[in-house]
Amino acid sequence: MPIQWFPGHMASARKKAADAMAAIDVVIEVTDARLPEASSNPMIGELRRFRNRPCLKLLNKADLADPAATQAWMDFYNRQPGVKAVAISAKSPSDAARVPALCRQLAPHRDDGTKPLRMMIMGIPNVGKSTLMNALLKRKVAKVGDEPAVTKHQQTLDLGPGMTLTDTPGMMWPKIDYDSDGYMLAASHAIGRNAVIDEEVATFLGGILLERYPALLAARYRVDPVQLDGPALLEAVGRRRGCLVKGGGLDLEKAALILLQDYRDGVLGRISLETPESRARMIAVADAA
Ligand code: GDP
Repeated sequence: MPIQWFPGHMASARKKAADAMAAIDVVIEVTDARLPEASSNPMIGELRRFRNRPCLKLLNKADLADPAATQAWMDFYNRQPGVKAVAISAKSPSDAARVPALCRQLAPHRDDGTKPLRMMIMGIPNVGKSTLMNALLKRKVAKVGDEPAVTKHQQTLDLGPGMTLTDTPGMMWPKIDYDSDGYMLAASHAIGRNAVIDEEVATFLGGILLERYPALLAARYRVDPVQLDGPALLEAVGRRRGCLVKGGGLDLEKAALILLQDYRDGVLGRISLETPESRARMIAVADAA
């Protein structure tokens, strides 16, 4: 997989995040509701616990995710101390507007009328942080200061009476401990545009869809999921959609892109790539190997 941590980057990102976290009251951790663990960075949780900061865990893009899986994830996270998990779609202004009040509930000690509530958004790329910030800032945009000492690009913005919002400190790349995390991220976030990887990623995605959402596949591509595995699904999609190379063979690269794009656009239906149970099973299998 193309994205990984390098020790030097990791140490500097950790330092930046630790410094930034010391100066705020609530961490808003944004993840992708379709793959909440694969799209998280464990460093955020570690630092948050170390600094003893409460966390509003946003399962974003909930409009694309399977509602039952999202509910299972919210139950899972809401059992963790100091965490409040909420499913939102940052594209929906009313969802975004709930965020400041939720943060306020997590930091009642800041609610004495004198101290501002200081929030910081964290999360890996592409989970929807900018979308959320823009939605929040639409109400009142006022830059209160850059903090070059913390990071060159980090900004703290005034969100209106007694509330500030700080941007994520530096880049928080995912920590890909398991191969399937890399595949889930690639399927969902269009990273690593490369034909060979697209085919691998689409085959992986196809495997999950066949196992958990066969009816959605049957409806979209008029295939019989019972007969198929991941590679055979790609071939079937290719045949259905007339993806042919010169000479008449199947263009699996094109079929892969069709499947990936349909999933990314949400046209297959609401799909989650992992649940608390599927993740626990995956980890047990991977760790036993
Ligand atoms: P960032 O890298 O974390 O700042 O992510 P962005 O805010 O740039 O969002 C990445 C992509 O996800 C963009 O194409 C957004 O339009 C899309 N996106 C963000 N939030 C949502 C959401 O709630 N639902 C859907 N369907 N797409 C979203």
